Amino acid sequence: MRENNPSIDDVITNACEVIKQFVPVRHAGIYYYDAWKNGFFLKTEDSALRQRVLEILPNTVAADRVDTYSDGQEMFISPQSLEAMLIPLRDGDNVIGFLFIAADRLSEQSRQDCRTIAEELSGQLRIMSNQIHTIKTNHNHQVLYRVTSAFHASIHTKDVLEVVINTLKDVYPEFDYYLYLSQEFPGAEDLPTRELIYNDDVTNRVSVHAFLTGDVQYEQITETRETNCYIPLKGEQGVYGVLQICAPTVISFPAEDVEFVSLMANEAGSAMEKSRLYQHSKQLIEDLQLINETSHTLNSNLRLVETTTFMSKQIKDKFGAQEIGYILFKEDDQEEYEILDGSTDYFLSKKAKPFLANTLELLRKQHDAVFIGDFSIKYPEVNFLYHSVMAIPMMQSKQIKGAIFVLHQDPYFFSFEAFKLIQSLVHHSTLAFVNSMLREQLEHLVITDYLTGLYSRKYLDERLQQHLSEDEQGAFLLIDIDDFKKFNDTYGHELGDELIIQVASIIKGHIGTDDFAARWGGEELAVYLPNASVKEGMETAHQLVRQVEAFTEPTVTISVGVSYWDKGQSERTGNVFDRADAALYQAKELGKNCVVQARCIRELN
Ligand code: GH3
Ligand code: MG
Ligand code: MG
Repeated sequence: MRENNPSIDDVITNACEVIKQFVPVRHAGIYYYDAWKNGFFLKTEDSALRQRVLEILPNTVAADRVDTYSDGQEMFISPQSLEAMLIPLRDGDNVIGFLFIAADRLSEQSRQDCRTIAEELSGQLRIMSNQIHTIKTNHNHQVLYRVTSAFHASIHTKDVLEVVINTLKDVYPEFDYYLYLSQEFPGAEDLPTRELIYNDDVTNRVSVHAFLTGDVQYEQITETRETNCYIPLKGEQGVYGVLQICAPTVISFPAEDVEFVSLMANEAGSAMEKSRLYQHSKQLIEDLQLINETSHTLNSNLRLVETTTFMSKQIKDKFGAQEIGYILFKEDDQEEYEILDGSTDYFLSKKAKPFLANTLELLRKQHDAVFIGDFSIKYPEVNFLYHSVMAIPMMQSKQIKGAIFVLHQDPYFFSFEAFKLIQSLVHHSTLAFVNSMLREQLEHLVITDYLTGLYSRKYLDERLQQHLSEDEQGAFLLIDIDDFKKFNDTYGHELGDELIIQVASIIKGHIGTDDFAARWGGEELAVYLPNASVKEGMETAHQLVRQVEAFTEPTVTISVGVSYWDKGQSERTGNVFDRADAALYQAKELGKNCVVQARCIRELN
């Protein structure tokens, strides 16, 4: 609170009047100490005195200010025709002002009278300034109490700082206020914030110094004649920012006022600290909940695609990722990898390849997660749309099993906290990933023939049952390699195996994605074409016969029996097989390398 108390001015004006009445002087004025300007300023109604004071007092820079006389000694000056005196006004050892008088001649009596008046005046001013001090202290305490209560009522840093700024604007309206903050927080843009810049630039040095030392700093800007005061916002554990007070003039901030603002700043610092700790613990709890929920869900025996879909949702929801990819290395070979279902389309595109090659190489090399704020700066040679990149390896028994990639187009989109959390999520879910994968591999093994990679007979049997109950029609092809015994005898069993693989590949390459082929046993293979008409079934069989003859090396031929069913017949699975088998037998009879269509149920009956 600036001391502009009218009662002090009243006392001073009054005292000057009294002096002029009782002592024969021409001029009387009082210099009174102004803590904000750190100088003694002339208070007088005597305009002639204001004009003459420069002539009377030597070494005076401004007409209404004396600084150089503050050593507190009485002075007698006798310029030209006048005699003048400066009598100190004291509060204990402190000089609080001067009584200034000038007359043509100052008799010993007049001087003595003025000293007595000065002493009397000192006493009065002392009482008044004590009163003012008490009122001010009282007021400050109330302000501090109000402010502190407001701090306790809120856990939001923004609210706390808003209260600080508004209170200061209230108490010292003539200054501007800015906040240098060490951390971002929501709503900061509504406050007069400035950035704490840690460099050697002169413009930042004082604010940074206040922040680093935790001590109040002052700054005089010579060009603009502005004065700045930097007050750190201190908590128990650290400094959270700096409050800057900007005065438009050259002033000195009185120690008492700085102390008051510091108390408030420290309260604010503590409140910010509490808010930060609160937010931090809230965040930790949220993170733990996320990890808990994720590992709980993942450990409930999900299929691999369900696992990836669930993880993707968590990562998208929580971190705003744009692309998420799951890579699993094949076997223990870290060169070849598979992009899992549930990865976003981007990872399947050609464009992703150079990026994946680059990042997987990095993962292999550093055996640790990769966190890149701006990929284009780090790897300008890789043409890549996404700037923010996280790649987290899935480690099991110190081996990299695969990795999860999380991307965003904006640079520096993910915080370090987000990175740490995703790392933790991946860490907790790797086991579930690997388990789902192993289980699916096992399931695949069970339904797959080891030699040809076609389905097992059991699997085809099960699927056929399902199709018979759900579909309208379908065709079944039973295929047998002709004169295979002879082939084995001629070329050996190993080449025989190799040939079965050749035939299987021809079949696989020819049938559609909904069709499926199985190894029926030995050198007999089977194909089921769901929803195929008899015509389609026959066509496929003929094509296979032609292709096997054309493309096997050494050349072999096949015979095919084709059976067909539709809803009109009450067909049992066995019948479909048996009729195909009978047709196959006929094909062999007919001289092999041909197709025979089985008779339909109605014909049989
Ligand atoms: P056909 O034209 O009448 O079918 O004459 P084939 O010699 O092929 O006679 P068949 O189908 O009855 O004989 C099956 C032979 O195929 C018996 C066996 O030597 C051979 N074979 C069966 N399974 C395998 C296998 O897994 N690998 C190899 N190399 N040969 C097999
Ligand atoms: Mg056979
Ligand atoms: Mg055969």
